[in-house]
Amino acid sequence: MKRRLLTLPAIIFLLLVAFNVPASAKDTWTSVHSQNFFLVGNASEKEIRQVATRLEQFRDVFTRLFAKLNFTSPVPTTVIVFKSQSAYKPFNPRNDAGYFQPGPDVNYITLTTEQRNSEDDPFRIIFHEYVHLLVNNTMKDAPLWFNEGLAEYYSTFYVDEERKAFLGKVIPNHVLYLREQKMLPLSALFAVDHNSPYYNEGNKRGVFYAESWALVHYLIQADKGQHLPQLGVFLNLIGTGTPIEEAFKKAFQVDYSVIEKELKDYVGGNHYTMTRATFERKLEFDEDMQSR
Ligand SMILES: [Zn+2]
Repeated sequence: MKRRLLTLPAIIFLLLVAFNVPASAKDTWTSVHSQNFFLVGNASEKEIRQVATRLEQFRDVFTRLFAKLNFTSPVPTTVIVFKSQSAYKPFNPRNDAGYFQPGPDVNYITLTTEQRNSEDDPFRIIFHEYVHLLVNNTMKDAPLWFNEGLAEYYSTFYVDEERKAFLGKVIPNHVLYLREQKMLPLSALFAVDHNSPYYNEGNKRGVFYAESWALVHYLIQADKGQHLPQLGVFLNLIGTGTPIEEAFKKAFQVDYSVIEKELKDYVGGNHYTMTRATFERKLEFDEDMQSR
């Protein structure tokens, strides 16, 4: 058998061709292990560690405030942090600001630290997606309005001076949207599922997300929190198969029309409260992280 030997210039040519790829392929990929997350990305190590810190803070605050939620995910969560919109684009066909993909073996969160505009704060997206993870761990088939409304509600989480956590900050765009658009009747809001146009079509999504957020905000914050236990009863009844309208009447002791009116007044009234939680221990996690 005759072997064809490559000459040195040919080998050099092959090497040049093989390595003549755009500079972007030479990105440095860094992985960061924090206590509860595995992050990997072509963003800088500092940025990836910041994402890890914010996620750990968020998780920490949640585990302290909501002891009943199941925080132990049966599968690990990998967070992929892209350095820019353009680096993220090939993996992001819907052009989302961030994405959460639960799976049987691993959950994925993808995002970029490069911000498109003030509404698309990547951390809002991370917290939004992470709430989905916690809800999916804790509840089977959570109603879509509740899952999205709660995710939006907690997406504004922020920590001030490392000690004070703020929950339930108002999202101005949602308020503006609801004042300008006709709100959905609750029966329509509760009926939205993954196949509904209100979940999938651009202009309809706006009202669905805004109203889900407002309803959750109202149920948690309004009237000094007196609706919160009712929300718990409502979700339990739905979870055990009670038809939604019957569950609503049992839990809130009123018809849809009463809460619809209160919600409209709540959005129009502009008297939002939020929760501030202060912690004695600093919410810092940097020492526990390992990078490679
Ligand atoms: Zn969502």
